Amino acid sequence: MSRSRRHSHMRVARRRALQKAAVPHLVPCPKCKTPRLPHRLCPTCGTYAGRQVVRQEERKRAS
Ligand SMILES: [Zn+2]
Repeated sequence: MSRSRRHSHMRVARRRALQKAAVPHLVPCPKCKTPRLPHRLCPTCGTYAGRQVVRQEERKRAS
């Protein structure tokens, strides 16, 4: 590849750093409306795909 040296390492590193700092994609939780990552368990209400995944009992046992 004759074009591989067109940019300095610093220039490429700076561009990649900008991409990584991009705002994450968020979707509102269908249950509590809190913005969360798609296809992830909701950290607020413990629900994923309309199902309660984290038991509410575990929260009560904190004390
Ligand atoms: Zn939620």
